[in-house]
Amino acid sequence: MRGAPSHTLVLALCALAWVGIVINSAIYARENPHSGRDPVASDSEIAAFARTALEDVQQRSFAERKEYCGLILEDDAGNLAVSAVFEGYEAECQLPWLSPMGQYPVATFHTHGAYNFDYDSEVPSTVDMEADIGEQIDGFVATPGGRLWKIDWEDEVAVQLCGEGCLATDPRYRPEPQGGIAQRYTLPELQQRQP
Ligand SMILES: [Zn+2]
Repeated sequence: MRGAPSHTLVLALCALAWVGIVINSAIYARENPHSGRDPVASDSEIAAFARTALEDVQQRSFAERKEYCGLILEDDAGNLAVSAVFEGYEAECQLPWLSPMGQYPVATFHTHGAYNFDYDSEVPSTVDMEADIGEQIDGFVATPGGRLWKIDWEDEVAVQLCGEGCLATDPRYRPEPQGGIAQRYTLPELQQRQP
C-alpha cells in the first residue's frame, strides 16, 4: 500500500513524541507525593548536598532580598540531584512538589533572604518546622548570618548543623542583639521564641 510507509512514519513519530512526554513528565503536586519515604542516600550525604545547594543561592538571596527554595531529589540508587530552584518573596517561598519520574524528594531546602532586623531569621520559623513535619520530610534552612539548620521531621527538632558564618553571610547581617541562639529547638521551643 502506498499509504503504509507514511502511516508508519506518523505512528513512529507519535510513539517517539509519547516517549518524550513520558520521560519529561514531572508531577507538580501541592503535597509531598512520597511523604514519609526513607531515603536511600545517607543523612550525611543529603546534608552535604543541601549545604552546597544552599551555598549556591545564598548570594542571590541577599542581593534580591528574597527567599529561594527547592527540593533535594534522589533516584532509586540514592544518586542526589537538585530540583528546579524556586524564587519566593521576602519572607516566604512556595515549594511546588516536583516529582520527576524515577526521582523522589528526600529533603526541602530554603534560604531566609537578606538580613532584616524585623525577622527572627537566624532560626527556622515555626511554619518551616510545621511544614516539614506535615510533609514528613527533612528540611534544610540557610540564614543571612550563614547558619545551616536541619529540621528532622521524625524527631520534630531543628538542629544547627553549622553556626554563624559557615555559609555565605549577608554583609548587612548583625548578630542578635537580644542574645543567644540555641543549637537545637523543638517545635514548642520555637513557638515560645516566636510568639
Ligand atoms: Zn524559613
